[in-house]
Amino acid sequence: MGDAKQKEWLMRNLIQALPHPLLVHKRGLIQESNGAAQELLGLGPEKLQGARLLELVSPEDRDLVVRQHRALASGNPGACEIRFLGPGGELKWVRFSPALLDGGKGVLCWLLDITQERLRQERLQETEKLLESLLSGIPHGISVLDRDMRILLVNPTIERWYAHSMPLLGKRCFEAYHGASEPCGVCPVKETLETGQASQAVVPLRDKAGSQTGWLNLYSTPLRDVGSGELCGVLEFVEDTTQARLAQEALRDSKELLSRAFTASPDWISISRLSDGKYLEVNEAFENRTGYKREEVIGRTALELGIWVEPQKRQEAMGMLQEKGSLRDFEADLRMKSGEVRTFSLSVQILEVSGEKCSLAVCRDITERKGLERQLALSQKMEAVGRLAGGVAHDFNNLLTVILGQTDLLLMEMSKKDPARQALEEIRQAAKRAASLTRQLLAFSRRQVLQPKLLDLNSVVADMEQMLSRLIGEDVEILSLRDPDLWPVRLDQAQIEQVLLNLAVNARDAMPKGGTVRIETTNRLLDSDFLNSRGWGLPPGPYVTLRFSDTGVGMDQETRQKIFEPFFTTKEKGTGLGLATVYGIVTQSEGWIEVESSPGQGATFTLYFPAAEGAELLGTTGGGSLVGTWSGSQTVLVAEDEEMVRKLVCSVLRARGYTVLEAEDGLKASQIEETHQGPIHLLVTDVVMPGMGGQELSRRVKARRPGTRVLYMSGYSEEAVEGLGSLEDGAQFLSKPFQPDLLARKVKEILGNF
Ligand code: ADP
Ligand code: MG
Repeated sequence: MGDAKQKEWLMRNLIQALPHPLLVHKRGLIQESNGAAQELLGLGPEKLQGARLLELVSPEDRDLVVRQHRALASGNPGACEIRFLGPGGELKWVRFSPALLDGGKGVLCWLLDITQERLRQERLQETEKLLESLLSGIPHGISVLDRDMRILLVNPTIERWYAHSMPLLGKRCFEAYHGASEPCGVCPVKETLETGQASQAVVPLRDKAGSQTGWLNLYSTPLRDVGSGELCGVLEFVEDTTQARLAQEALRDSKELLSRAFTASPDWISISRLSDGKYLEVNEAFENRTGYKREEVIGRTALELGIWVEPQKRQEAMGMLQEKGSLRDFEADLRMKSGEVRTFSLSVQILEVSGEKCSLAVCRDITERKGLERQLALSQKMEAVGRLAGGVAHDFNNLLTVILGQTDLLLMEMSKKDPARQALEEIRQAAKRAASLTRQLLAFSRRQVLQPKLLDLNSVVADMEQMLSRLIGEDVEILSLRDPDLWPVRLDQAQIEQVLLNLAVNARDAMPKGGTVRIETTNRLLDSDFLNSRGWGLPPGPYVTLRFSDTGVGMDQETRQKIFEPFFTTKEKGTGLGLATVYGIVTQSEGWIEVESSPGQGATFTLYFPAAEGAELLGTTGGGSLVGTWSGSQTVLVAEDEEMVRKLVCSVLRARGYTVLEAEDGLKASQIEETHQGPIHLLVTDVVMPGMGGQELSRRVKARRPGTRVLYMSGYSEEAVEGLGSLEDGAQFLSKPFQPDLLARKVKEILGNF
C-alpha cells in the first residue's frame, strides 16, 4: 500500500470509528459517511453513498450550504445550523461545519444533532412571546428587581407610569420610581428582600414634579433561583387603585356631607318608622325647635308627644303620603314641648332604612311668614275698605252740609212755636251725629287734613288724664308711667286726643266691673331687623311708643284680627268705628298700632310714632320749636377732625340755640380760642386728633380760661380713654356713636342755666 493509500484507509477507518457524525463529499456527492451520521440522518450507507448533499438538505437551507462552501476556499467559514430532510420528510436540525480535506480530496463535514436544542429554543421563544404579551396586555404594573433593587424588567404599564424617568432598566427602584436616593421608609420590596416573605403596601404615584397623582397598591413576591432556591430578586405586582380610592372618597365625602346637612339644617328633620310612626332619629334643629331632647323622642311617636295640634291633620298627611309616596309643603300647626304652637311647612319622603320603610320629614317653621302674610292681607283689606269709606264719607259730607244748612235756614225762619220745629231739631241732631260719624270715617280713610306740630306726648297724656278718668269712671284706676326723657313727636294734637279717647272708651267697655288702665310712654330705637320681622313698612330709627293697656275681658284671635276694620263691633250698640279711627290716625301719622290680647287677659295697644328729633336734624330747619328741650345760648367750641361727626355735632348744638365755634383739629381750635373775643363756656372735643389731641387742647384752653368746661367725645370707651392718659377730674365723656339727643342733654347738663 502506497503512502497515500494508506492514509486514505486510515482516515476511512478513523471516520468510521468516530462516534461523532461525519460526512465526506466531493463536489457535492457524498463519498463517505460514518455510522453516527447514518444514524443521525436515518439513512443507510447505501443510500448515502453517492447521494447529493444538497438534496438531503431542506430546500430553505440549501443556499446557506452553498454560501458556506464558497467561503470554504477563503478560510474557515464556521458552523451553520441547517435542516436535513429525513427519509420520511421529517426535519433534523444539524449544526453543520465543513472543512477542506488536503489535496482536493473533498470536504469533511462535521454534523451535530441540535434538534432538541432547537426545539427547546423555540419553546423558550414561544414562552417569551407569551410572557411579553402577558406583560404588555395586563393593565397592572409588573417589574422584576434583583437583590440590589435594580430593575431587570418592567412591563409597558410601568413604563407608562414612569415615562418621566425612562429608561428604567438598570436603575434602582427608589431612584426610578420615587426619585429618591435611598430606599423609601415603607417599601415592600425591601421587606421581601430582608425577610424572604411576600409583602404589600400602598404607595403614592407621583408625576415628574413630585406631586401625587394617584395611589398604587404594591405587592412584592420573592424570586428564587430554581436550582439553589436562593433568593435572587423580587417580582413586583402593582395595581393602580386611584379610581377606586377616588370613588371611595367621593362616597365618604357625600356621606359626610349628608350627615352634616342633617345636623346643621336649620329646618327640623326627623326619621320615623312608617309602620308605627316611632321616631328613629332627629336632628339638632328638632331638639332646639321643639324643646324635646333626642332621648325623649326616639322610640315614641309625634301623636304620643302631642306634637300634632290637630291629629286628624296627621291622618290627612299620612293618607297623602301613602298615596303619592311623598308630601310637599304641607302646612300644619305643631305644638312644642313648652306648649307653644307654631306653624310649619312639612315635606315628607318615604325611604328605606335597613330594609324598613321610613319617613323622612323636613319641617320648616313658617310662623313668622304666616304672620306677615296675614298682616299684609289685613293692611291691604284696610286700605281697600278705607278708600271705599273715604269716598262714601266725602259724598256724605256734601249731602250733610246741604241737610244741615237747609235745616238751619228753616229753623231760623221758623217761629218758636211752630209744631214742626221739634221734628226739625231732631233732624238737625241726627244730621250732626251723621257728620261726626263721617268725620271718623274720614279719619280712618286717612283723608283728614292733619295739623302736625312738635309735641311732647307726655304732656298730651297728662292733660287728658283728668278727662279720661271722668270718662272711664271711678272704679277704673288710671296709672301712667311717663318716660321723663321722651323724645318729641310731630303730631296733630287733636287727633292724638281722639286716639286716647277712643282707646279709653273701649277699655271702659271691656271692664264693666272696673280694673286698671295703664298708659306708658317710652323711647325706642327700631332697627330694620325688628321692622322687617313685623312687615309694617316703617323706616328704622327712633320712635316714641305709647302703650295703652287694660285689665278687661280681652279678645280671641279672630276678634283681634278684625278690630281695626270699620264697622266691626262685638257690642250691641257699637259703631265699630273707634279703632278704625285710631288706626287711620296712627298710620296717617306714619306710625303703627299693635295689639296684644287674649280672652280674659285684658288688652294692650301699643302705638309707635316716629320721633321728631331725626327729622329735625335732617331738615336742618331752625330749631325754634325745640327751644325748651335741652337748649341753651352759651358758646361752645367744637374740635373734631371727622367732618361728618363735626357737622352733626355743630348742627345739633346750633339748632338748640348755642353759638358754635367750629374747628377741624386741635391746633385750629387752639387758634380760634386765642383770637375769640367773647366767652367760651364749653369745649366739645374728640380725644384722638392729628397734631394736637383733645387733652392737650383742653390743657391750653383751661390755662387761659379756667372756667371753660370740657366734654370729650371718643369712639373708645371711657375706660380705654382713661388708659390712654387719664382725663382730668370733672371731665365729661360721651362715647361715639351717640344719639344727637344725648349730646344735647349732656351739654345741657354740663352748662345748666349759667
Ligand atoms: P266699638 O267699640 O264700637 O265696638 P271699636 O272699633 O272701638 O268699635 O272696637 C271694635 C271691637 O274691638 C270692639 O267691639 C271689641 O270687640 C274690640 N275691642 C276694642 N277694644 C277692646 C278692649 N280694650 N278690650 C277688648 N276688646 C276690645
Ligand atoms: Mg269703640
